[in-house]
Amino acid sequence: MFENYSFTASERFMRYVQIDTQSDPLSNTQPTSEKQKDLSKILVEELKAMGIADAHLDEFGYVYATIPSNTNKNVPVLCFCAHVDTAPDASGKNVKPILHKTYQGQDIALPDDTTQVLRKADFPYMEKLIGHDIITASGKTLLGSDDKAGVAEIMDATNYFITHPEIKHGDIKILFTPDEEVGKGTVKVDLKKLGADFGYTLDGGEAGSLEDETFSADSVQVIIHGVITHPGYAKDKMVNALKIAGDVLASLPRAELSPETTEARQGFIHPTRVDGIAEKATIDFIIRDFVTDGLKKKEDFLLSVVEMVMENYPKASFEFKVTEQYRNMKEVLDQHPQVVEYAKEAINRSGLQLKMESIRGGTDGSRLSFMGLPCPNLFAGEQAIHSKLEFISVQDMNKAVETIVHIAAIWEEKS
Ligand SMILES: [Zn+2]
Repeated sequence: MFENYSFTASERFMRYVQIDTQSDPLSNTQPTSEKQKDLSKILVEELKAMGIADAHLDEFGYVYATIPSNTNKNVPVLCFCAHVDTAPDASGKNVKPILHKTYQGQDIALPDDTTQVLRKADFPYMEKLIGHDIITASGKTLLGSDDKAGVAEIMDATNYFITHPEIKHGDIKILFTPDEEVGKGTVKVDLKKLGADFGYTLDGGEAGSLEDETFSADSVQVIIHGVITHPGYAKDKMVNALKIAGDVLASLPRAELSPETTEARQGFIHPTRVDGIAEKATIDFIIRDFVTDGLKKKEDFLLSVVEMVMENYPKASFEFKVTEQYRNMKEVLDQHPQVVEYAKEAINRSGLQLKMESIRGGTDGSRLSFMGLPCPNLFAGEQAIHSKLEFISVQDMNKAVETIVHIAAIWEEKS
């Protein structure tokens, strides 16, 4: 299918990463930074040049477009989604992408800051990329493969569909979102306008990986009310909320249930912020587990720890507030097993080894899944994301393009 196709993903990618699209965690506007639209406008123009008539950018920074169906069959409408913004963790300004052709397995020092060295010892995946063409940044900025790789791959897949009408598919929706990196990627998305039944985000790592699970997440706020008096006359009266907060933190388990001591499918209880004065102290926690029931167990455990500490301070009181953050998208995806099944099949047809993964975090896909668009995450090839050492293989990007095309073809076949 792809023998004679000249892939355009890497060429597009090299252009897109040079446009600064960093999102802004401190902004209350939507998009959080206007410059994200600089790339989105170009994407709309390029889609229109391919003949995608309805491609457009809305005021909130979302790009919507449709590749029309070319089959008589009634096929569910698919959406392929990627985010245009880059993470605030490292500069995204004046990115200079460098193409390292036919990688030989050596360490790669980045020219604009030679202390930045990509070492196989640190990134074992580089071993698998020997013989590939690798793209890096120049040492002073991130690269932006997260998620301009996904953007470029969806654009190239669109080009493939347009130039290969013999590949039959239903309506395909394209969605490019802003602000994913600051947790606002789905805030203003219009799923009704999008009109898709099932989605795939392209925002993952190594070739062949597929993520259908995220954490389920709650936050807990513990507010401790002490008893305040003049410190000079406080004997047997004062109860210092800060000291109680200290006791609570000291009573948390260390060897387990912490981010720093858990991995894979283990959850945790994680204090993220302490705030207060002697009279009143607040501890913010995040609670994570892959099983939503597991959240409840961890919250009950945390409550028991707080109650145990409070027994030593009978005059003090506390509040315990649980807020739902997001849920494991597998709960939704399991109701539509073909979404993940067809992605697995597509990865196989692309000649890749399937690698199922669970995300120890949330994604736009998990939010979209619960908003009504079941949406696992496909590999895009991103490596060492959010850092100056970010890199990506051109061949991995092309495999992502193939996987997109196969997914659409499989849905048509099986409809
Ligand atoms: Zn991303």
